[in-house]
Amino acid sequence: MSVTIPKTMLAARVTGPGITRWDIQTVPVPRPTGDQALIKVAAAGLCHTDTMIMEFSMFGVYPVTGSHEPAGTVVALGVDAQEKGKLRVGQTIAGLQHFGMCHTCKDCLEYCTHSRYTGLTADGAFAEYVLLEADCCVPIPDSMPFEQAAPLTCAGITMWTGLRSLDLQPRKVVGISELGALDHLGVQFAKAMGLKVVGIDARPHPIELARDLRLAPDLLINASETSPAEARKAILAMRGLEYRPFAEPFNGVDGERSFTFPSQHVAHPATAMILTADPVAAQRYAVEVTRRHGTFVVVAQPETVSISFRDFVFRDLTVIGSLQGDVHDLEETIAVAAEHGIVSDVSSYTLAEHEALLATVHDEKRKDKAVMVF
Ligand SMILES: [Zn+2]
Ligand SMILES: [Zn+2]
Repeated sequence: MSVTIPKTMLAARVTGPGITRWDIQTVPVPRPTGDQALIKVAAAGLCHTDTMIMEFSMFGVYPVTGSHEPAGTVVALGVDAQEKGKLRVGQTIAGLQHFGMCHTCKDCLEYCTHSRYTGLTADGAFAEYVLLEADCCVPIPDSMPFEQAAPLTCAGITMWTGLRSLDLQPRKVVGISELGALDHLGVQFAKAMGLKVVGIDARPHPIELARDLRLAPDLLINASETSPAEARKAILAMRGLEYRPFAEPFNGVDGERSFTFPSQHVAHPATAMILTADPVAAQRYAVEVTRRHGTFVVVAQPETVSISFRDFVFRDLTVIGSLQGDVHDLEETIAVAAEHGIVSDVSSYTLAEHEALLATVHDEKRKDKAVMVF
């Protein structure tokens, strides 16, 4: 199968930190070498990290074409990728952002120290064509539209692997704090796992959107009008349990200072919490409703994660980070999404509509997934 590939293409590029719009440039269409695959992009998702590299010098590599959530069709393969035979020209795929790995180290598929990241430190998918590692591409089912496949390559896989790492039995309670597009996928994956899901947000609109999901949370909490104590009570009620705080809070004395463990004396019902919100207030709230001995999974990107020793030590919280996953995790993510009908609420924009696409980030009422389509 031969495909005609043009010499140049249009790309939405980040020219440096501190910019507020992509620069639409005509650039050469790259040619795949080694283990690379050239993909004709059909859909490319917008992720929070795309805006971070526009706002500040996160990785310091400019200019760079945005988007690390690509889905499209294979149009050419490097020599090694051809020999491996994992992909063929004409196949429809979604791909991870790892790029330029050494192909020899133990951590190669996800944490290779040689790896660059498509859309962040290597040119990404806000362009008509993108180079990906063939080893990082996964064929998508015929039934899955490109616009649905693209968000699974960062948002979807991040939530899937974060949830899976908890190894929870069905009907255990997991909280998801906040309820943006990423979290809507997380809610659905958690429901597909058979978990009881508590969705938390301080904004009414994302809560309403979450309520409309086919696989909706079992409980929705508006953190702006519900105290952590009331939230814990609501979670216990959801589980059919009675709220029984101890009579007295646990107090202690440290030299001249007396102190109270404010969250020690009441039940903390969520077995685990997935944190996708950066603000400290959201972190604090999420900690408050996580059960003693519970696990706190950080997939947000706050500069620091703020957890007091009162919670970390005296409530024995386990805090883990979750990046994305490797190609096998992406295979699993796509398979689970297809099996359970897990979908993003997608808004599509063309390259010419890139300013409207970017504006969705700053629109508090928009919690759908913005995708560029070609
Ligand atoms: Zn991302
Ligand atoms: Zn490596």
